[in-house]
Amino acid sequence: MSSDGPDHMSSQDFRRHGYALIDWIANYWEGVESMPVLADVAPGEIRSRLPNFAPEAPEPFESILSDLDKIVLPGITHWQNPNWFAYFPANSSPPSVLAELVSAGLGVQGMLWSTSPAVTEIETQVMDWLVDLLDLPQPWKTTSEGGGVLQMSASDSTHTALVVARHKASAVNNVDASSMVVYTSSQAHSSIEKGARIAGYGHIRLIEVDANQAMVSSALDAAIRKDLDSGLTPVFVGAAVGTTGTTGVDPIREIGIIAATHNLWLHVDAAYAGSAMICAEFRHHQDGLELAHSYTFNPHKWMMVNFDCSAFFVSDRKPLIDCLSILPPYLKDEASESGAVIDYRDWHVPLGRRFRALKLWWVLRSYGAEGIREMIRHHVSLADYFASLIIKDSRFELVAPHPFALVCFRCTAGREATQALTAAVNATGNFYWTGSTLNDEPMIRVSIGQTKTTKEHVDRLWKTLSDLA
Ligand code: PLP
Repeated sequence: MSSDGPDHMSSQDFRRHGYALIDWIANYWEGVESMPVLADVAPGEIRSRLPNFAPEAPEPFESILSDLDKIVLPGITHWQNPNWFAYFPANSSPPSVLAELVSAGLGVQGMLWSTSPAVTEIETQVMDWLVDLLDLPQPWKTTSEGGGVLQMSASDSTHTALVVARHKASAVNNVDASSMVVYTSSQAHSSIEKGARIAGYGHIRLIEVDANQAMVSSALDAAIRKDLDSGLTPVFVGAAVGTTGTTGVDPIREIGIIAATHNLWLHVDAAYAGSAMICAEFRHHQDGLELAHSYTFNPHKWMMVNFDCSAFFVSDRKPLIDCLSILPPYLKDEASESGAVIDYRDWHVPLGRRFRALKLWWVLRSYGAEGIREMIRHHVSLADYFASLIIKDSRFELVAPHPFALVCFRCTAGREATQALTAAVNATGNFYWTGSTLNDEPMIRVSIGQTKTTKEHVDRLWKTLSDLA
């Protein structure tokens, strides 16, 4: 080490290793289909390959790189394999990955407008674009009262909404959070319950769903009235456009009217299905969205933007900023004080923030809305095709509607057969899908959304499951 600090990688070496790494990623993408989808390692196996102590002396970058193949890859579950049918997708694309690299290279963080004006202004513009692209309510634009901000995850967005709603309700009702109630359906994502706990709400009600897995709005109304009669304070309704279990769609308009009647905050979670709204034919599912106070969807699930990139919108940014803005002296800033700029630090929990908008911007520009629509329609048509195969075979039955690209089914022979099939297909290593339950009965979720999944992959999955059933 010299008196000028540690030895850094030279620009020349950075170029050399950087080009090699781009080759490595391109090779990975070319070869990922032939890798077992699910990592085949025992708990602790990867860790055991690492030394017990952090290195004292610098290591050559070549040896660091070679461990990508030796240590990292064996422990990777390949979400980018086109045979990925598990959970929901976390799909990705080359422009997104390149933008991620630039974001790291710039190494900026955009907590204030002045800490990198481009980070804020590109994000603001791209979020306003999304309002038009997805036909979200116009007041959600920053040119109106609302606005959007990128966060790490839908859970963060939902937690933020819960905190803002609680803050607003305490100011209006002058009651403690322990008497406040959150409502969501029994099929809602666990992030709503988790967020309610974190925000200190005293009660959460899981409202029943109908045969389509949609919240029964009359049951919501009844639950709110019961709580009011008991002296509690109903505050927040979390509705879903596309539940995690089966992509059930709650009746947003009916729920919004009930929420407005009782002066509740309505948050809509479209983490997965929100991307589909770029196609006009799916937008009837979000009818009533103008009644929502906040909304989240994840471009990192189904819009070819690699994780992490979750969009959060509010219909009115004032309560959000009132709740989250704190101004210590070291963050005082002339541009902020002028009122002419957005400081996204006031729009979510973290202070520091990455340049996430770059990858969203590059994906939107590289594919255009047309390209994204084509991908969504391609996946939805594959899901329709897969569902048609299930319907035609008496050994299987669909267990829920499939409005997007998730198909849920079970074996008609019973629970053991469904569980056995779930495990047998995963055990081939050639596919990965998720077993779950609906009404306490096992089911299988087939989620089609990896960027490169084609009909051939779906046909191979069908042949395999058909042979194993
Ligand atoms: N909401 C829904 C409907 C989801 O399906 C998911 C994840 O699949 C989430 C929220 C949580 O998303 P995140 O991992 O971005 O917090």
